Amino acid sequence: MMADLLRGAVGTRELAARLLCAAGVPALGRWRNSRRLAILMYHGVEAEPVAPRCSYVLDVATLRQQLEYVRRHYTVLPLAEALERLLGNTLPRRAAVLTFDDGTRNLATHAAPVLRDLDLPAAVFLATGPMGTDDPLWPDRLWLAFARTQVPEIDLTALGLGQRPLRIPADRSETREAAVEYLKGLPDPERMARVEWLVGVLGPERDACGSPFEMLNWDEARALMRDDRVALYPHTVTHPILSRCSDAKVDQEVAESCRAVERETGCAPTIFAYPNGGPDDFDQRAVAAVRRSGIRWALSTTNGFADRHSDPLALPRIGIASQHSFAVFRLKLSGIALPRLPFRNRRAATVAGTTKVGDTEPRDVSRARR
Ligand SMILES: [Zn+2]
Repeated sequence: MMADLLRGAVGTRELAARLLCAAGVPALGRWRNSRRLAILMYHGVEAEPVAPRCSYVLDVATLRQQLEYVRRHYTVLPLAEALERLLGNTLPRRAAVLTFDDGTRNLATHAAPVLRDLDLPAAVFLATGPMGTDDPLWPDRLWLAFARTQVPEIDLTALGLGQRPLRIPADRSETREAAVEYLKGLPDPERMARVEWLVGVLGPERDACGSPFEMLNWDEARALMRDDRVALYPHTVTHPILSRCSDAKVDQEVAESCRAVERETGCAPTIFAYPNGGPDDFDQRAVAAVRRSGIRWALSTTNGFADRHSDPLALPRIGIASQHSFAVFRLKLSGIALPRLPFRNRRAATVAGTTKVGDTEPRDVSRARR
């Protein structure tokens, strides 16, 4: 057993995770949190791992391995049923829910077949603006621009990031992640202007067609609902950071996405997910706007389990990242947090203003996500 654990070059964190799993810690965590609701958060799913790395896009083999594990150890419920039962104190033990944010087309092509095979329900939160177009959401637009650029280096002094090389995929990932984190902190109009400038410098721009960030159209989204396995919910129109938007933009992003989901599905949505979803990413204006749109429950990206004491309009989730090994996934799902290492690799430490690279979380998955 120990030889298996130690075989291969694994990092300290991964080794700790494997040792904890071998010691049965996930089962202990499941027992300890068995009366709470685990709301898992995924994003896109591709056939193979994407390159340059994208922490919020899983490959389908990893998704299948994780969902088989969830199915074996948890009672997976539709989101709306789980929240009603949370309210009514009738949740089964070890209850879990699957959510997929943003609405990329690969949910239909790669995630839905796994859900079908395993007979698991899920909720998909749609950024309704670019649906059916070739336009990606703004962080994905930057991923595409950084992935496709021929520019060998970029001067990001204006973003406080200095001169950055872009010659190898790791450089591109680090610089993109740092830039996205910087941009998330800007007032929304300034953020949009900076995205345009950055894409212009990296260009020429191509659309998202055929990429991991091509969005569903409404026919494809409705097809996901057909066997009642998937429910569709709103996630704003353009995926801005709501706390950085004007009052009018907050109202418009929330109300319009709720109306679009109602118009296209025939059901008025009662559940919403905030873009990026960290405590600083939505404020009382956003909470008031979702309430005005008839929303009863809203999901954040604060890490944790939901229980009867959770704020119904700021429910926590458990974010899943592509860099999570199976051991880390099992621990995370059971509520066991691996302590942050006292040191980080030098490369990560050089990324000013970000929380990555190797050991942390993806976007909408933590503070480092959209
Ligand atoms: Zn999102």
